[in-house]
Amino acid sequence: SQWVYRFGGDASDGGKGMKELLGGKGANLAEMGSIGLPVPPGFTITTALCAAYYDRGEVYPSELAAQVTEGLAHIEGVVGKTFGDAADPLLVSVRSGARVSMPGMMDTVLNLGLNDETVLGLAKTSGDERFAWDSYRRFIQMYSDVVLGLDHYLFEEALEIAKEDRGVALDTELSADDWKALVADYKAKVEAELGRPFPQDAGEQLWGAIGAVFGSWKSERAKVYRKLNDIPESWGTAVNVQAMVFGNMGETSATGVAFTRDPSTGEHAYYGEYLINAQGEDVVAGIRTPQYLTKAARERAGAKAASMEEAMPETYVELAEVFDLLERHYRDMQDIEFTVQQGKLWMLQTRSGKRTAKAALKISVDMANEGLITPEEAILRVDPAALDQLLHPTLDPDAPRDVITKGLPASPGAASGAAVFDSDTAERRSGLGEDVILIRVETSPEDIHGMHAARGILTARGGMTSHAAVVARGMGRPCVSGAGSIAIDMKTRTMRVTGREVQEGDIVTIDGSTGEVMIGRVPTVQPELAGDFGRLMEWADTKRRLKVRTNAETPNDCRTARQFGAEGIGLCRTEHMFFDAARITAVREMILAEDEKGRRVALAKLLPEQRRDFTEIFEIMAGLPVTIRLLDPPLHEFLPHREEEFEEVAKSSGVGVETLRRRTAELHEFNPMLGHRGCRLGVTYPEIYEMQARAIFEAAVDVAEKSGAAVVPEVMVPLVATARELELMKAVIDRTAQAVFTERGRTLDYLVGTMIELPRAALRAKEIAGEAEFFSFGTNDLTQTALGISRDDAGRFLGDYVDKGIYAKDPFVSIDVEGVGELIEIAAERGRAARPTLKLGICGEHGGDPASIDFCEGQRLDYVSCSPYRVPIARLAAAQSAL
Ligand code: PEP
Ligand code: MG
Repeated sequence: SQWVYRFGGDASDGGKGMKELLGGKGANLAEMGSIGLPVPPGFTITTALCAAYYDRGEVYPSELAAQVTEGLAHIEGVVGKTFGDAADPLLVSVRSGARVSMPGMMDTVLNLGLNDETVLGLAKTSGDERFAWDSYRRFIQMYSDVVLGLDHYLFEEALEIAKEDRGVALDTELSADDWKALVADYKAKVEAELGRPFPQDAGEQLWGAIGAVFGSWKSERAKVYRKLNDIPESWGTAVNVQAMVFGNMGETSATGVAFTRDPSTGEHAYYGEYLINAQGEDVVAGIRTPQYLTKAARERAGAKAASMEEAMPETYVELAEVFDLLERHYRDMQDIEFTVQQGKLWMLQTRSGKRTAKAALKISVDMANEGLITPEEAILRVDPAALDQLLHPTLDPDAPRDVITKGLPASPGAASGAAVFDSDTAERRSGLGEDVILIRVETSPEDIHGMHAARGILTARGGMTSHAAVVARGMGRPCVSGAGSIAIDMKTRTMRVTGREVQEGDIVTIDGSTGEVMIGRVPTVQPELAGDFGRLMEWADTKRRLKVRTNAETPNDCRTARQFGAEGIGLCRTEHMFFDAARITAVREMILAEDEKGRRVALAKLLPEQRRDFTEIFEIMAGLPVTIRLLDPPLHEFLPHREEEFEEVAKSSGVGVETLRRRTAELHEFNPMLGHRGCRLGVTYPEIYEMQARAIFEAAVDVAEKSGAAVVPEVMVPLVATARELELMKAVIDRTAQAVFTERGRTLDYLVGTMIELPRAALRAKEIAGEAEFFSFGTNDLTQTALGISRDDAGRFLGDYVDKGIYAKDPFVSIDVEGVGELIEIAAERGRAARPTLKLGICGEHGGDPASIDFCEGQRLDYVSCSPYRVPIARLAAAQSAL
């Protein structure tokens, strides 16, 4: 078999399509060679050889030696020097190169082929004795470290001592004789450590380095990295052996790394660093401070040292041409390594450059505008999840920050405001126009109003799926959760952390994208929603089939969602409206009432409030469908939980404390999520749903009358398990609609449908579709009930389940396709069979998750619905799924 592929000179056996066989580096070196770029000649030993080597119990196939000799002959032919020749030696580099770049692998050995004799030849041919001995000592150091396994500290220490003895600070101040002495010192150290001398034979050196590359494939570090990144062990690594070029041959030599566009902003400008008279590792190692590539970058940074554009103008122009050629050729931003040897440019590597979300967006849109890629490709190149980072205000990266602790980055974006420690204070102070940050040990549904009033939320307890995290993400509020080092003292209204104290009212800043908590205000920068972002979204909208709606119940969230392109509301959770301080009293009165008559009295107080909510939402969403879900949570959620609240609530509700206590005890449930909630409330207390339906239809008629806009209410019944439940609730809704239409002398179109969030409902979809005009998959509850895992408590053990591969991803984040997915498939099929016009959507958290959206596209659902800030993510993900 062919184990060795040549590149450079006039012979490139490989190309960019051969990454699997040649690794990324080898394939791209061959590609650059074949398109005429200056690549030092070399050869690649394939990844297949790596596999064969391990298959055979760590022995090489017998043909390999001859092929390597031929490969060397290729290099020698092009360069005109001979490997191991004492008079004029060929030196090579040896580098690993897997399919994807992989930390943990042996990286590089430079200057291989030097020994006590060839170093003299190099000194003579280069005319630079100091350079030759410096190269030799670098080689001994690198080879001993990566091939012989000696600690590089050994050599660094010797170098430091040598510098001290000479009274100099910089390597560059050492003379040829100093390096010569150091080489002797290094070699003695190797022999003392290993009991044998440093290898002098060039062939032995080469095979040693090749063996070290293959050996490093099975190193512990590489194994760990592969596991974390799902890289199969069977892939193997390639080895690249390449003629050395020297960036350290004086002032006309240099070495550098560059990106063809700015990897952090995406700006279309070359971005990079270089060093004159240096070898590759000097740039990365931080021994000397690298200089800017372009004059513009140098000036912007206010740096003095000449940029490459200024110091080597001709070579710079040549390099810039190569950048453009590579970008056109690869049709992507490239990350490049190069060396200049005595004025001659050499390319050492090119690959697709890593970039930030912001840069990914800008580069994709720019390249499509430049005609380099198609809009479809631009759509596919941006990771939808990464858009999240771009939609929120972010901290000004140049502003100073006084970080006091770090928690979990629970909901992205940054916010500053006065510290407050309870939700009522948050609401009161924000009502007075103040920005506040709500700081709690943890949050509960009673904090909704405070969370809404706050610019950001900080909690001491709770993970990424805690109440605070989920609700904050839904509202688009920045949130840092689980900042365990903070201690909140409610008596003195202070927060203590790492010896610092924050009093109520002190300004704090949180960064929900990093988890950082800071004292004081840090300026933020607003996201740019027009421009590149808007352009990409336009393209995505022309490609997607799925509609994208939003889960929202406040006017603010509705407006945000429309601004982000929501095409309707897929879920308006009406219970959130009941927590409002002004209404909770009437809600409690309704719950505490002894009979239907009492309940109706309380409901009559809620009716105008609820009508006002819906009117505002219908106005904002004019022309778009609005799905309103009738009351869902168990009633005890509205009653007080803490002892100290009973008195106050009893007083404001006008009942005795004892009555309140008794009723609370009566409503207690061991398993409230499987208890008296959803349509079960409507079955027991139809008057609640009747009030809500009335509020919906009265509001719809009002808005239609006033503005003439098409208002399309979709009334949704939660937690249905049987067709009969829906039949009963639909009767209440239809009856109420007719009553309102008669009273108002006006009718309008509306739909009645149900959530599918219980396995039984999915299975009995055929009968349920007989009553329902639409299904909305409530995948939060459907996941909870299908998997039998409590969505509120799963955080404690789901991590283990994901670690052990039981579920590939958190099933509350990304849909469990095999289980929950099959239920959806069954429900969609049976529902559509019974009613071909049945509208299908999803409104669980999964509606904003790209992988789940892909599943929904596969099921040909009509829409996905997600929190406002995820709307753009869903639009992009839906387009990617459709392409
Ligand atoms: C669901 O269960 O998926 C859903 C959207 O409803 P909620 O999260 O309000 O229970
Ligand atoms: Mg639900």
